[in-house]
Amino acid sequence: QAKRLGHNHVQIYQDSMSLQLKASAVMRSSLQEAIERNQLTLHYQPIVRCSDSATVGYEALLRWEREPGKFVSPGEFIPLAEMTGQIIPLSEWVFRRACETAVRLQEAESTVKIAVNLSTLHFNRTEFAPFLAQTLAETGCKPEWLELELTESILMDNTDYAVEVLQKLREQKITIAIDDFGTGFSSLSYLKKLPVDKVKIDRSFVAGIRTHRADRVLIGSVIKIAQSLNFEVVAEGIETPQQAEFVSEMGCDYMQGYYFGRPVPFEEL
Ligand code: C2E
Ligand code: MG
Ligand code: MG
Ligand code: MG
Repeated sequence: QAKRLGHNHVQIYQDSMSLQLKASAVMRSSLQEAIERNQLTLHYQPIVRCSDSATVGYEALLRWEREPGKFVSPGEFIPLAEMTGQIIPLSEWVFRRACETAVRLQEAESTVKIAVNLSTLHFNRTEFAPFLAQTLAETGCKPEWLELELTESILMDNTDYAVEVLQKLREQKITIAIDDFGTGFSSLSYLKKLPVDKVKIDRSFVAGIRTHRADRVLIGSVIKIAQSLNFEVVAEGIETPQQAEFVSEMGCDYMQGYYFGRPVPFEEL
């Protein structure tokens, strides 16, 4: 079969096979221990409003400190955890911790939200809505303090189910954002039929602002179309004042990136 499909397919097949082997052999047991040994932490990165640079929220980003000072990047272990199913206990831990943080922030600060990345598997394979309701109740976190970031794949895989669940969450005043927008296949007009409040433009487009006219045109167009469909727009990966200025001039609502702050532990916020 692989031979008929040609060289590229053989390559992809081998890559994904070795990835899976690595997943089961190395990661499985150690991921299990990560929670028990307290090796997981959440870091928080500010999201600011374009109009006045006020911080309106923080995105919770998972960190795995496998040895003191040595962090495994989520880009490395999250895809593996999604393959082995271990993402589910991991993701449950993330939500609990993020809700606790939201409560502490409300006590300390004011009206900022916590944005949490939602695992496709956690959403599709478990009763996510009851889990979240229980976590909110147990931590004392209000739904309006929480924002869910999901990728387009959640909506593509099982649309009717996803719409039904997201609709319920949104009725409870939880904000729904589409992450990494522009890297998947769905269009804004398609998203418009779904219960979504915000789109986060992927940072690969922002990275090209200075050098690629196409990226500037795309960002400008996405912002205008998204807003005309009543979505709010967040630009990800803002690293320079020029990028911040450009997306602000294009009418973007919110920005996030190293220019405003790297992800840091709660204590350093
Ligand atoms: P994401 O949700 O798109 O998160 C944004 C990523 O971009 C983060 O990487 C963040 O550190 C990074 N970033 C932020 N600003 C900048 C910038 O100005 N320049 C550059 N080059 N990068 C920037 P991180 O923390 O490594 O996370 C990678 C991905 O892992 C996330 O992408 C998200 O998809 C996933 N992830 C992280 N935490 C969780 C989690 O708790 N649960 C789930 N399911 N996925 C998570
Ligand atoms: Mg995200
Ligand atoms: Mg993103
Ligand atoms: Mg991403």
